[in-house]
Amino acid sequence: MSETIFTKIINKEIPADVVYEDELCLAFRDINPQAPVHILIIPKKAMPQLNDAGEADEGLLGHLMLAANKVAAREGVADGFRLVLNNGAAAGQEVFHMHFHLLAGRSFTWPPG
Ligand code: AMP
Repeated sequence: MSETIFTKIINKEIPADVVYEDELCLAFRDINPQAPVHILIIPKKAMPQLNDAGEADEGLLGHLMLAANKVAAREGVADGFRLVLNNGAAAGQEVFHMHFHLLAGRSFTWPPG
């Protein structure tokens, strides 16, 4: 896949406000936050979108969700947060390196826009 801005963040080629990192993933604050807490959780292994994941990625996908729990706890928002994944341009995906948005700190409506 072609390199995205998130690859550059993983490789520390451009700065990011990193709040969590382990061997498989990285979490950093969104540069254009849509809530008081808006953190992106990305796998270090690049895949353009969730739809590209295969059976071999089952553990990684679970790892990302458990990382979201850790990030939420660190941010003090474990009791209420929204986890969003935009899969594909039609869903609003702009950066084609699969990622979760962790949003918290305000109330949210349903259905989402
Ligand atoms: P999506 O539309 O789901 O692909 O989300 C991409 C997100 O990446 C948007 O919320 C952007 O604000 C965010 N973003 C883009 N570039 C950066 C960056 N350099 N650092 C942090 N967040 C970024």
